[in-house]
Amino acid sequence: MAERSWSLGRALRGLFVKPTIDETTWEDLETALITADFGPDITERIVDELRAKVERYGTTDPADLQRMLKETLEERFAKFDTTLKLTERPAVVLVVGVNGVGKTTTIGKFAKFLRGYQRSVVVGAADTFRAAAVEQLATWAQRSGVAIVRPEREGQDPASVAFQTIDYAKQHGTEIVVVDTAGRLHTKGGLMDELTKIRRVIEKQAPISEVLLVLDATTGQNGVMQAEAFLEHAGVTGLVITKLDGSAKGGFVLAVQERTGIPVKLLGQGEGIDDLTGFTPHVFAASLVE
Ligand code: GDP
Repeated sequence: MAERSWSLGRALRGLFVKPTIDETTWEDLETALITADFGPDITERIVDELRAKVERYGTTDPADLQRMLKETLEERFAKFDTTLKLTERPAVVLVVGVNGVGKTTTIGKFAKFLRGYQRSVVVGAADTFRAAAVEQLATWAQRSGVAIVRPEREGQDPASVAFQTIDYAKQHGTEIVVVDTAGRLHTKGGLMDELTKIRRVIEKQAPISEVLLVLDATTGQNGVMQAEAFLEHAGVTGLVITKLDGSAKGGFVLAVQERTGIPVKLLGQGEGIDDLTGFTPHVFAASLVE
């Protein structure tokens, strides 16, 4: 695989070309993992685990260490079921996250992604307080070739837009409903109440298949805290990590997954319509090390 921006490859290269594993190897490995935003706890655990493994195998060959690092990351990533659960009809996907993380862009890309699997899609613009957000979503819906249900007026109750979107899907036999939500962090209490209400209203009509929390890879540990706030209130079932392109923070993906216990289900890797992929743990683990 070509080297990705989040790859530790460059940071680790010096370490793996040395003739032998020595004390600076461990220091350099620790620095590389911290720099990539694995966070101090996971970094320490990985380094300890690898030290023990290297000792057990009695090796001093950095190439062995590279292979062991890849295996360790693969094992950690493989603990999570990262597949999207979209079997209900309609399958309702609620998308949550704070403003600026790339939520609207993600919904646009996700609609296209689903169209690629021949699924019919309707998006619901339930971020009703920002007219610009509705317009932005409408532009994405058009680009992706999917239907949109928009509020009839600015400030309309978001839950009622969600309701109408599911109603639309039922009437038209649309397979997947993707509902955008507001992300105003400065009124966190209000935001969480609003999400609870949207969920309650939706669940009267149809089970919610996925609640996807969108997080920006460049926000580091702050993003982990954001995630924890949403987990308490929004019933999150999957994470979407955006802005991995150009970011050297690939470790964030593992950090946030292990801290929250919620699997990463999609990766955003650019601003274009095709820059969203499913999350395949062993492929990502390999791309981190190579
Ligand atoms: P929202 O406020 O959460 O709905 O965020 P937007 O969807 O409006 O995105 C905020 C900014 O992030 C925009 O400039 C997007 O083009 C950009 N963006 C979103 N996803 C990605 C991504 O995966 N990579 C990059 N580089 N930029 C992204």
